[in-house]
Amino acid sequence: MGILAPVIILGTIGAVFGLWLGFVEKLFAVSKDPRIERIFSLLPGSNCGACGQAGCMGLAEALSSGDAKSVTCPAVHDQERKTIAEIIGQKDIHKEKTVAVLLCGGGNKCKDNYQYYGVKDCLAADLILKGPKACAFGCIGMANCLRACPFNAISMGDDGLPRIDRGKCLSCGKCVKACPRGLIAIVPRDKNYHIRCRSKDKGADTIKVCKAGCIACGKCVTACPAGAIEIKDNVAEINYSKCVNCGKCVTACPTKAIGKEA
Ligand code: SF4
Ligand code: SF4
Repeated sequence: MGILAPVIILGTIGAVFGLWLGFVEKLFAVSKDPRIERIFSLLPGSNCGACGQAGCMGLAEALSSGDAKSVTCPAVHDQERKTIAEIIGQKDIHKEKTVAVLLCGGGNKCKDNYQYYGVKDCLAADLILKGPKACAFGCIGMANCLRACPFNAISMGDDGLPRIDRGKCLSCGKCVKACPRGLIAIVPRDKNYHIRCRSKDKGADTIKVCKAGCIACGKCVTACPAGAIEIKDNVAEINYSKCVNCGKCVTACPTKAIGKEA
């Protein structure tokens, strides 16, 4: 018999346990909703988390289970969104198209306060005397927004300011969260004019440090035929629901603190 007996015994035990495990797996198997894979295949697969779920699979599962009521992914295209709505038996709710815009025109036009040699991080720089720029409200220029963007929609311009590529921006809002100054806003994509300053300093103080700052003179308020602009905390603000894209505010602004993006 020799080695044969233990081989037969071990083989028999292995076969019995294999069959048992197969039986248990079948018995306790949780059937997966087939819609999950279909929905997942229609999502972009970037796992950026902007939908509020752990990733694209998380959103697919939440949609099929009913935990998510609509396609909250900002990167999903219209056709895919409609198909997903059909799969989960919901009416397609058309989302307003939005895009990220930068609300600062300072950059190289803003004076420096001191020479900064620390780590290139807006948050870290902000902790040291409010950053190297003389304006405590303006862009620090160390590109936290750029690094946060999962779609490579942001680059740094020669003027020291981030450039947002409207063709690439999917309005996920990651850059908004990454900016310690709150200088990026998600706005309606069809609105072209934006106040590129958030300085709450008095106009005379703002212009001392930044040539492109809003001096709260109110000329844009007067020029706007739609009553879409008001001055709040020493800085102009556009109400996008009233703005008619006429651009009269840009012409009226003496410091060119209002920018056009289209
Ligand atoms: S620019 Fe901002 S909102 Fe647009 S895709 Fe990049 S991180 Fe998202
Ligand atoms: S916009 Fe904000 S995050 Fe981006 S470089 Fe400027 S300060 Fe930093």
